[in-house]
Amino acid sequence: MANSNVQAQGQLQKEGKEQGGSVSSRTASALFPTYGRFPISLVKGEGSWAWDDQGNRYLDFYSGIAVNNLGHAPEKVKNRIKEQLDQIWHVSNLFEIPQQEQAAQLLASLGCGDAVFFGNSGAEANEAAIKLARRYHQKIKGEQRYEIITFKQSFHGRTLATLTATGQDKVKEGFLPLPEGFVTVEMHDIEALKAAIGPKTAAIMLEMVRAEGGIHLVDPAFLQEIETLRKEHGILLIVDEVQTGMGRTGKWFAHQHYGIEPDIFTLAKGIGSGIPAGAMLAKEYLREAFSAGSHASTFGGNPIASTAIIATIEAMQEDHLPERAAEMGDYLINRLQEKLGGHPFVREVRGKGLIVGIECDGPVADLVTEGQKNRLLFITAGPNVIRLLPNLYVTQDEIDQAVDILSQIIARHEQTKEE
Ligand code: PLP
Repeated sequence: MANSNVQAQGQLQKEGKEQGGSVSSRTASALFPTYGRFPISLVKGEGSWAWDDQGNRYLDFYSGIAVNNLGHAPEKVKNRIKEQLDQIWHVSNLFEIPQQEQAAQLLASLGCGDAVFFGNSGAEANEAAIKLARRYHQKIKGEQRYEIITFKQSFHGRTLATLTATGQDKVKEGFLPLPEGFVTVEMHDIEALKAAIGPKTAAIMLEMVRAEGGIHLVDPAFLQEIETLRKEHGILLIVDEVQTGMGRTGKWFAHQHYGIEPDIFTLAKGIGSGIPAGAMLAKEYLREAFSAGSHASTFGGNPIASTAIIATIEAMQEDHLPERAAEMGDYLINRLQEKLGGHPFVREVRGKGLIVGIECDGPVADLVTEGQKNRLLFITAGPNVIRLLPNLYVTQDEIDQAVDILSQIIARHEQTKEE
């Protein structure tokens, strides 16, 4: 660190002390304060369990927000990455990358995506999807279509395009002007959707479960209406599977529950078991819309990331993890309904596979802290919804333990409210 920075930090600490008391190391952090962080430092993980730097062990029911789908440090992935580390780490996309080709073939074999583009995150995958949809209409069809219709309470990322696509105002504050060409309508309002469609509409983009927006499942009847409109108006369908993909909902991709085939869908989070990676998959007829030089990523699909993707998919296939997510998801939802169903603070338990929300009758942030004190990690999805995202190897016993802790802390929460 440069000397002047050290001095500036020292000054900050001094000022902090003068303003009344203890100065946390946070005051002197070199990081942007973009995250409201829990005061826990997780240093080790194994399966469903994580340890902090004080040696406390936690049952992990948030999985790095649907990233550690195979649990912490899964052997089958770890060993393959170690082998790859001994070979070569990074190769530019100016060269052949056989691991990337294999990862793409595997992903394509799991569903309706024929052509794959690799990036490093969910936002980048969605950015690629938006670019592909526009370019297909403009370059292949010769139509000046560019508008993307999205839905309220959606979440698509933090780049300028994807935050504009996101149906939540809080992510847009202070970032004006936003890029043109995005329209957001109320979910399940077919008239609003019809009114939003026009000659400039390039694509409709949605999540099958609006996860950040509160674990809201899409209504199959609404999806069927979208199917009709899409065909009628030549609009592409983009499904954001960043949080729901890779087996979490009980199928490889959540749209497979509904018998639809999107033109484009996106993946990230669980795709590489924690090695940063994202992917955009599209139908064959969209392949030619991206020619050499039209889109790129330095790191996307490098040998380490691609190896993580291959090993993740192969482990999931060997261990039938999508099926397991469906089975364990039913078990978790049933247990939660049994234990919490009649509770006055609990409004609804809902989910698909192992993405589960408990909607409550008030803010749940305190419950997250209580969970941590009781060594259970989970997060929220909006102010009133508890979000549970255990890994796909989670056992019935671990689910029982988590449900017991949750029902105890919810009961205590209710008691303290009454007192
Ligand atoms: N799309 C969805 C549905 C998400 O849940 C997220 C992240 O939470 C994103 C996109 C953005 O992903 P990333 O943070 O990897 O850019």
